[in-house]
Amino acid sequence: MPGYELIGESELEEIKLIFSNGGILFRQGFENLRNNCYKVKDFENQFTQKLDSKHSLAVTSGTAALRVALAALNIGPGDEVITSSFTFVATVEAIIESGAIPKCVNIDETLNIDPQDLRNNISSNTKAVIAIHMLGTPARLNEINAICKSKNLFLIEDTAWGCGGKLDNKYLGTWGDIGTFSFDFAKTITTGEGGMITFKNKKLFEKAKAWHDHGHENNPDFPRWEDTRSGSGFNYRMNELQGAIGIAQLGKLDYIVESQRKNKDKIIKKISQIEGINLRQTPPNSYETADALIFFVKDSNLAKKCREELLLKGIGTKILPEAYTWHFASTWTHMPELMNAHKGQIQERLKQSQEILQKCVSIPINVKMPDDIPNKINDALEFAIMDSTI
Ligand SMILES: *Cc1c(COP(=O)(O)O)cnc(C)c1O
Repeated sequence: MPGYELIGESELEEIKLIFSNGGILFRQGFENLRNNCYKVKDFENQFTQKLDSKHSLAVTSGTAALRVALAALNIGPGDEVITSSFTFVATVEAIIESGAIPKCVNIDETLNIDPQDLRNNISSNTKAVIAIHMLGTPARLNEINAICKSKNLFLIEDTAWGCGGKLDNKYLGTWGDIGTFSFDFAKTITTGEGGMITFKNKKLFEKAKAWHDHGHENNPDFPRWEDTRSGSGFNYRMNELQGAIGIAQLGKLDYIVESQRKNKDKIIKKISQIEGINLRQTPPNSYETADALIFFVKDSNLAKKCREELLLKGIGTKILPEAYTWHFASTWTHMPELMNAHKGQIQERLKQSQEILQKCVSIPINVKMPDDIPNKINDALEFAIMDSTI
């Protein structure tokens, strides 16, 4: 759970550099006052390099990243965007905010988009698919990518949980046309609030860059107040303080992901003897960020029982079943746009997802894990499961 566990000296050092170079907090301009200190720009360049991407644009949040991505693709009223039923509300909020119609499809045992259900729900109005790598496990990108290509749809990867993860040795967020990332305080790396967008295509990148800055094209031939523009936009600019922290956190990304993976393996090794626990599936050649350990038990009652026993040992469960309602589209009756898009039938449409999710238990993985955690988890689960078989 991660980046925030490691906030310290290196983040502070990066911020001090801003203040020892004029204290310019805006990402551009003020050339004479900043001694060539550009933290957001450096963060973007380092992010591009790290992920072996083509272009990166920093923004104010992961939600903003999705909104800007949709704007760059010219998606708006009348267009349909398909996404997963198991995600954070932000994904659907961004679609609604763009004016497009949000459609949620079922998950399979990877807890990410079921490619078959995706195929079944594509209509002539569908323009894009937003795949999620929920809690750090890659979606079935090979299949989803092939479907998008054959139907001429844009693919956006909501990589809020997948920063540093890979599939077939290629970073998550660099498979689709656009990848979006979140650096909110619970994500793999954090800038307090913040996000990033990666692009393959330079034109899309330039469109997004202007749109996230009121349409400013940052034309080098003009001062900012006379800057050229070719469309409207909005303001989702990241500031220099966030950029500085991002640089320090990015330097810790490998360590964070490796530590989480190690800790997750330790727990799996410990609980693998318990009968009735089946791990979440992963596509072949997945390199997970291991943000959570998720497994299936035989039914919803047992999942809740596992949660109770884990809580008694001081281990919180994450998202399932505890915080499920913020992450499962079937429960979002507060969003009329989503309900209307499914003609009031969302519960029936997402039955498959419901059946899968209600049997899940999710344990958060930290970078720093006390030695006795795997034993505690094992004891809690053994007790819960033994109790249920009596
Ligand atoms: C966190 C999250 C977001 C939103 O990111 P913020 O930076 O909090 O706005 C979007 N999608 C998913 C799947 C997330 O988990």
